[in-house]
Amino acid sequence: STTNATLAERRAAAVARAIGSAHTLYADRAHNAEIWDVQGQRFIDFCAGIAVVNTGHCHPEVVRAVQQQAERFTHTCFQVVGYESYIALAERLCQLAPGASPKKALFMSTGAEAIENAVKIARYATQRSAVIAFEGAFHGRTQLGMALTGKVAPYKEGFGPLGADIYHVPFPSPVHGVGVADSLAALDRLFKYHVQASRVAALLVEPVQGEGGYLPAPEGFLAALRALCDQHGIVMIADEIQTGIGRAGKMFAIEHSGVEPDLITLAKGLGGGTPISAVVGKASLMDAVPPGGLGSTYAGSPLACEAALAVLDAMQNEKLCERSMELGERLRRHFKALAAKYPAIGDVRGLGAMTAVEFFKGGDTHQPATELAAALKTEAAKRGLLLLTCGSYGNVIRVMVPLTIEWAVLDEGLAIFDAALAQV
Ligand code: PLP
Repeated sequence: STTNATLAERRAAAVARAIGSAHTLYADRAHNAEIWDVQGQRFIDFCAGIAVVNTGHCHPEVVRAVQQQAERFTHTCFQVVGYESYIALAERLCQLAPGASPKKALFMSTGAEAIENAVKIARYATQRSAVIAFEGAFHGRTQLGMALTGKVAPYKEGFGPLGADIYHVPFPSPVHGVGVADSLAALDRLFKYHVQASRVAALLVEPVQGEGGYLPAPEGFLAALRALCDQHGIVMIADEIQTGIGRAGKMFAIEHSGVEPDLITLAKGLGGGTPISAVVGKASLMDAVPPGGLGSTYAGSPLACEAALAVLDAMQNEKLCERSMELGERLRRHFKALAAKYPAIGDVRGLGAMTAVEFFKGGDTHQPATELAAALKTEAAKRGLLLLTCGSYGNVIRVMVPLTIEWAVLDEGLAIFDAALAQV
C-alpha cells in the first residue's frame, strides 16, 4: 500500500534531488487549514502551500469555479482566443491596486515570471538596464529572478553567468542592526560609486521581506524609496507575491504605507492554489511594450482566472483582510508571551497574518539558532503541525496560516507549537 516511506523511495529514484522538501509527508486531501497524508494522519497547516491558500485548502467557491470552467473549456491561450475571466480579473485587480493612476494588468503563471515581466516592462519603458534589489530578497529561480534574489546558496551558486547590471543594497532590519538610514546611505553610495541613478530602470522591494525573514519595511522606508524613484525616474516595483491578497492584512501590503508603487507583482494567494501570477500597475508603463512583446502559452489560464475571481470574492465576502489583522495580533500576542519564557526567542514580528518568530542562541542577536528552528519544525511535524522556516540563516519560523483558519484549529496548532518548543 502507499505510505510516506514508499513514496519517499519512489521519489528518490524518480525526482531530481534539486527539488528539496521541507517535510516528509505526502498529501492525500486537505480542507481549510488541515491536511491528511496518505497514511490518514491529520496535520494542521501553518504553511498554506507557502502563503498560497489564503482562502484555505479547497475553498468551496474556488473548487466550484474551477470545476465549472473545466467543463466549459480548459485552454485556448488568451493570445489566440480570448475569454471574459481574464479581462474581468484584470479589471478587478486594476480597481483594487493602490493609487489613483489609470492601471492595466497582465497575467503569467508563476511568481518568477511576474518578476521577469515587471522588469522587462520597466527596462523597455525607461530604455535603461540597471535594476536594484535588496540583500535577503527572494524574487524567484528564473534567470532574472535568481539574479535579483539576494541569497547566493542555493539559489545562484553554480548557475552563472547571472543577469548583468543588477545591484543589491541592505534591507533595513532593526533587530539585525540595520536601520532605514543605513539602507538609504547604501543607496546613496551605490549611485555615487557603482551605477548612475539615471541608468537605473527599476527598484524592486518586498513590503515585508518574505524568504529573507518576514521583515516588515520600517515606518517611512517605502515612502523614502518612492521619493528616490520619483527623483531619478526609476520604476518602483512592489513584489507582493508573498505579501499580497490579504496575507499582510490589506489586499496589498504596501497600502499600509500609503505609497503607490508603479508596478506590483502578485502570485501565490491570487489563484487559491491554481498557478497564476500578475503584473498590475500604471497604464502608461504597462502599455509601453508593443503587442507580442510579452506573453506565454499558459499565462492567465481560464481555470486559474476563474479561481482567482472566486478568491477575490471570498476575500471580500468573508472580510479576510480584517481576519488577517486579527490573526496576526493573536499570533504575535501568543509568541510574545512565549518569548518571556524562552530567551532563545529573540524577536517576534510581522504585519497582518504574516508572523515571524526568530531564534537566537541565548538570545544574542549575533548568533542565529538555526538548528533550534529546524528541530522545532521537525518536532512540530511529528506532533501534527506543519511549520516552515525562513531568514538568511533559517533561524526564523514563519507562520502562514490560511486566513480562513478556524480559531479552534489555530489554538490547537499553537498548543502543538508550545509543546514542541518545550521538547527541543
Ligand atoms: N517573489 C517573492 C516575494 C516570493 O516570495 C516568491 C516565492 O516564494 C517569488 C517571488 C517567486 O515565486 P514563484 O516561486 O511562484 O516563482
